[in-house]
Amino acid sequence: MAATSKTPRIQRALALTDEGYRGLRRAIAACTLTNLALMVPFALTVMVFGAVLMRLTGDEADWGGLWGLFAAGAVGLVVVFLCARNDYRRTYVTAYRETEATRMALAEHLRRLPMSFFNQRDLSELTENLMGDVSSRESLMSSTIPQLVASCVSTAVVCAMLGFFEWRLALCVFVTLPVALGIVLAARQHERRLFERQTKARLAASAQLMDYIEGIRDIRACRQVGARSKPMRAALGTLRDLAMKVELAVDVCVSAATTVLQAGVGITVFVGTMLLSGGEADVLTLLMFLLIVSRVYGPITSILSQLPNLLSLSGRTARLRALAEEPVAAGSGDAAGLGERSIELRDVRFSYDGNGDEVLCGVSFTMEPGTVTALVGPSGSGKSTVAKLVARFFSPSSGAICAGGVDLAGLDEESWLRNVSVVFQDVTLFDDTVMENIRMGRAGASDEEVLAAARAAHCEEFVDRMPEGWGTRLGENGARLSGGERQRISIARALLKDAPVVLLDEATSSLDPENETLVQDALSRLCAGKTVLVIAHRLRTVAGADSIVVLDRGRVAERGTHAELMAAGGLYARLVRIQQQSLGWSL
Ligand code: ADP
Repeated sequence: MAATSKTPRIQRALALTDEGYRGLRRAIAACTLTNLALMVPFALTVMVFGAVLMRLTGDEADWGGLWGLFAAGAVGLVVVFLCARNDYRRTYVTAYRETEATRMALAEHLRRLPMSFFNQRDLSELTENLMGDVSSRESLMSSTIPQLVASCVSTAVVCAMLGFFEWRLALCVFVTLPVALGIVLAARQHERRLFERQTKARLAASAQLMDYIEGIRDIRACRQVGARSKPMRAALGTLRDLAMKVELAVDVCVSAATTVLQAGVGITVFVGTMLLSGGEADVLTLLMFLLIVSRVYGPITSILSQLPNLLSLSGRTARLRALAEEPVAAGSGDAAGLGERSIELRDVRFSYDGNGDEVLCGVSFTMEPGTVTALVGPSGSGKSTVAKLVARFFSPSSGAICAGGVDLAGLDEESWLRNVSVVFQDVTLFDDTVMENIRMGRAGASDEEVLAAARAAHCEEFVDRMPEGWGTRLGENGARLSGGERQRISIARALLKDAPVVLLDEATSSLDPENETLVQDALSRLCAGKTVLVIAHRLRTVAGADSIVVLDRGRVAERGTHAELMAAGGLYARLVRIQQQSLGWSL
């Protein structure tokens, strides 16, 4: 979907794929054809009307000609039917296909964006982009644009035909059109501002709703139902007020424009009667114009009512375009084999918002292959951030992380991640079976391999209790699993992946003793022989690490083995003492 300078403007404006753009052009042609075909029965009706009215002037009706007109009408109906069927295929079917292709392309594009992008956007905004904005564009493609162009063409044709019969009356029919158009265009800026405010309000409301639904358990537990629903109510109230304002603004504008347009009927009648009484027009011409003027405003009114719609959608398509053009993660080098070499952080600095407070301020240390490095330090000191940088979820603001001397920044993100197993606290589970959730560790692994990894991670104990065993679906984000169970699935995935580097956020603190033993056992299988970086919350578990890095406010405060750090009597020794006192354990 990436646009180049040669991409046609409308394709770029709507962020269409090449196929979608071709489809839109075909849809416009089909819709125009249908509108023109619809004019055939109408023109025949006018002709029949004229033939019958000839009797008024005393002439004999031409019955043979009339039957010919009826036959032509029947053929015309068949043509209209065929055109309408073709129109449906070209408009709706094309639009639905393009919607699917766009969503897939955007989802694929999102996958290739740097993780820092997701830090700046929240989930509700991206969901609105992929679902709401794409759907709006669907209606733009399936009806608004093709109908708009078709109505313009058929109106121009009618205008030319009427001008051919009697130019003065044709002028009367269309004289109000520029004024009506002017009204719609004059209101454009005001409506656009309202549409933008409405979109922002909708995003704010959906973020509030999501927060509320996600936190419903905590809200109930803390008896905060009334208090926590206040921001949601306020956001929904703002959205309601804006929706009403938008509706009112669009309605007033479209109604005013339509009323002005319809004034053309009165003008035509008035001028037509004047011409008739002056002998400059005959009854038949006047009656034909009156018949046409009653119908001709239909398509024009639909153009006028579509215009505000079109304006509102320009903001949405602009967002789609911006998303499609968001630059993908840099780096294309192959990382094969680099996970088995040493990993070195060189004076790494990092801030989440790019230019704000630094979370890491010059962190340097090396992890030798096959060793365990434990990261310890007070909460908020930057431990998880270091692990996320090693996983390349983010890139350092300055400094470098190198594997075997090669800067990760120059490597293809996916290629590097093949070297890394990540077992973090926030395990993401998908609404799929247990089996498939574990298979995510290595796509294409056989059922036996998945089961072996799952058993080694002690998943069997809880999966056996599930109604459909390994085939049980987990529900959205594994809602039906406990913390320890989710963690074991995550470990099973990592075991299956069998990558040389393991990044581990040790979160055993929330587990009961039985779960903790099982998780610890699974972890020791996972880490055997690997280069392990473990974020240790409980210092008891890091005593056996080959190297301990103590972080304090984004800096390396100390580094060494447990014995060395205890002997040094610094921050590490202090943290150990505090935990010993609070938890009552000793090393
Ligand atoms: P630790 O793992 O040692 O508890 P973290 O690396 O999670 O520390 O966090 C270090 C600092 O970075 C904290 O001040 C935290 O608020 C901030 N931080 C962590 N994640 C994000 C994020 N996604 N966006 C912005 N700030 C963050």
